[in-house]
Amino acid sequence: MTNLLSKEEKTALEGVLRQRLAALMEEVRQDLLKSDDDRAAMLADRVRDVGDESMADLIVDLDLADTDRDLQELKDVEAALMRMRLGTYGICMHCGGPIQVERLAAYPTAKRCQPCQAMHEKTHVQQGHASL
Ligand SMILES: [Zn+2]
Repeated sequence: MTNLLSKEEKTALEGVLRQRLAALMEEVRQDLLKSDDDRAAMLADRVRDVGDESMADLIVDLDLADTDRDLQELKDVEAALMRMRLGTYGICMHCGGPIQVERLAAYPTAKRCQPCQAMHEKTHVQQGHASL
């Protein structure tokens, strides 16, 4: 089976992802500005310039507790946009099948189709922070 996303659906989802990315970056920027770390302030200045490329990786090095949750989502959004560029967006990373459009609409950063996600949660949920 091929990717079932139409061009229009993909464009709409990309818009959602880009909006989310911008909102998250602003949140992270505010967190950085609140930090006492000089490097954080420096990064805050750069957040707007870097665009959607691996900003999260730069910030993650600072290890700021406040931004952890936002950063995780930021990374997910960045990864989704990257998959869009690579043409693998909407394809389940586990089984290679298409991810349902409805699922993507609800979770634009979804990496797995519904059955694979259910399986994943079943096998990983006890481990808490399973790194992917
Ligand atoms: Zn799957």
